This record gives sequence, structure tokens and C-alpha cells, in this order.
Amino acid sequence: MIPAVLPTYNRAPLNFVKGEGSWMIEADGRRFLDLGAGIAVNVLGHANPKLVAALTAQAEALWHVSNLYEIPQQEALAQKLVDATFADTVFFTNSGTESCELAVKMARKYWFDKGQAEKTQIIAFEGAFHGRSSAGIAAAGSEKMTKGFGPLLPGFVQLPWGDIEALEAAIDETTAAVILEPVQGEGGIRPMADADLQAVRKLCDEAGILLILDEVQCGVGRTGKLFAHEWAGIAPDIMMVAKGIGGGFPLGAVLATEEAASGMTAGTHGSTYGGNPLGCAVGNAVMDEVANPEFLADVNRRAGLLRQKLEGLVAAYPDVFEDVRGSGMMLGLKCKAANMSVVNAGYDALVVTIPAADNVVRLLPPLTISDDDIAEAVNRLDAAAAAVSNAL
Ligand code: PLP
Repeated sequence: MIPAVLPTYNRAPLNFVKGEGSWMIEADGRRFLDLGAGIAVNVLGHANPKLVAALTAQAEALWHVSNLYEIPQQEALAQKLVDATFADTVFFTNSGTESCELAVKMARKYWFDKGQAEKTQIIAFEGAFHGRSSAGIAAAGSEKMTKGFGPLLPGFVQLPWGDIEALEAAIDETTAAVILEPVQGEGGIRPMADADLQAVRKLCDEAGILLILDEVQCGVGRTGKLFAHEWAGIAPDIMMVAKGIGGGFPLGAVLATEEAASGMTAGTHGSTYGGNPLGCAVGNAVMDEVANPEFLADVNRRAGLLRQKLEGLVAAYPDVFEDVRGSGMMLGLKCKAANMSVVNAGYDALVVTIPAADNVVRLLPPLTISDDDIAEAVNRLDAAAAAVSNAL
């Protein structure tokens, strides 16, 4: 019999009932170190007092009004994002998938309004993940995501990850935009090299097409910059954000330049919940912390510590691990053993990690994880690796 919850997930038999900083407490009382942060979401850890205060204060005042009215919390958050990034304007969503939908619509509307309606094609990359909507799966293009869900939304093509020559060859008069994650998350923590990101930007500029960056997973401080593309010194025209921006409250955003957003006039897009007072109250509290340069400097320091310890772990268990990759607090352990065996051994050792494609174990801890918790987390990963190694 089908369960009451649609069984689209293979769930671990863990029932977390409480969170404290980088810790999650199981119903049976066991305390797990959280190196997953709900898939890169809880950037400020669990039950962060500032976020709890922002949420409860807003909950007592007003939850929701719809976008038919002015929402000062939304305006404040949009202004913070505009001040801190390349963007001139922001639309709020509830998820990364919805941000993908708008990014695609915005890019196509841009060309339509310019009288170039033939420019609808969006170039994406293999291994990408942009969400599970019709546009999201068509953009990613993998059989795993698209099989059985046809007819797919037309107008997407996928190139090998980071293949700049293929990109140059693929851009033609029908191309509207290029979409990519500066660090692929689900694809296995695969960063695009800064030089390649710069080359993509250059090709987009030369062809006059839009660059959409999907920073749903790698954004909001995750790599040690507010947004990952900043490392390469480039800027997109449109950027998808979600996950970390709400710190655990479902919130997403599309950021854009005035030019790229020029087609999105009143009535062209909408959302009942997107940017409601509750979500934006939390988003403002997240931005106040994460956009602070001192906060980011400390994320980079602690990320360096984590990486150094992980390099030691890889060296100690060459039969289990191949290497460490990624950026900031978005790290991947490329495995030799099956990645799920490492994740499962981690559960036994009371440390939570997340599998990804390419046989990678993802480490996406709260950005606030302390030096001590990093040391303890790696001790637990060491115990997990030893168990996997012994069983090989
Ligand atoms: N884009 C990227 C890069 C993601 O990692 C994800 C989710 O994992 C999404 C889009 C979809 O976001 P959501 O699950 O919030 O709809």
C-alpha cells in the first residue's frame, strides 16, 4: 500500500526532534553533528536565537498579506540584496525551483521584448541541478530526472561541464542565455574554475546573451563569499537564490540587473507566498549576519580548518577516499568506496553528511560551525571511514 507520504525519497531511519547550532538530536536522545544543514539551508545553524527572535516577533505581528500590498520587510530585504550584489532588483520566491522558473521566463521575455523572439534557447551543463519543475528538469536534462516526464519543456541544451569550446560552438542566433551553478552541488561538488567562469562571462558578453547563475546551493556565504561568483570577479545578469537565504524558512529569490529584468512588468509574474512578511523577516536576519565581512572572514578561516582536517582524513584512508574538493563550507569527499557506505557509517558514528552524484559525500555544515565542532565532526568521520575501510 502506498504510504501516506508520497514515497519519492529513500529516507534514512532518523527522526530529528531538536536542533542546537551544529547539532541535531534524534528522538532517542542521540546527538548528531550536522554536516548537511538540511542540504545547505541552515546557514546559521539550528535554532539560531536571532532567527528565532525575528521569526517569532513577525509571527506575533503579521504572517501573510499577499503581494497585492506593500511589504516593508520584503522591500528591506530586496534593498539589502541589491546593496550587496550586482543586482538592481529582486523577486522573492519560496524555493530554488521557483527561482529557476522565473530566471528562465525572465531570459526569454527579455529577448521577446527586444523583438528577437527566436532567442529562446538556454544552454546548460551536464551534471546540473536546477530543481524538479518542468523547466528545472529540462534544463538539467539528465535521464534520471527527465525519464517518463515528457514532453519536456523545449529550448534547453546541455554541454559537458566546463567545456568552454563547446559553449563557444553552441552559442547561435537562437541562444537566449547560459545557465550554470558556479559550484555544482547535486552533481558532486564540482566547482567551475575561475578562469572558466570568466571565459563564460566573456562569451556571453561577446554574443550579447544573458548569464544566469544558479547560486541556490553555493550562494549565501556557503563558499566564503556572499555569492560564489565573486571569487571569479564576474557578475551574472540573473541569479537564482534559495536555501541559505531563509536559514531554514522556505525562501528564494531571483536577482537581476535592470536590463535583464526589463521585460518583467506588472502582471508578467507572481507568487502568493513569495516574499511574505514571515519569510522576509527571517531573510533580513540572515542577511544581517551573513553579508557581514567579518562573518565571512571567519567562515573562510573555519572552512580552511575543515578542509585541512579532511585532507588528513583522505590521506589516512586511501581505500575509502580519493580527494577533497569544493570551496569554503561546500566540500565534497570524492569516494573510492561507495559514497552511501560512508554516509551510512557516518550515521552510526553520529555525524550527518549528504550523498551527491559522482560518488561524492557532501559536507555542507552550518556556516557557524565552531572549531571544536569541526574537530569533533572529523573525529566522527574518521570513525566512519575506519568502519568502511574494515568492511572493504
Ligand atoms: N538549484 C540548485 C543548484 C539546487 O541545489 C537546488 C536544490 O537542491 C535547486 C535549484 C532546487 O531548489 P529547491 O529544492 O529549493 O526547489
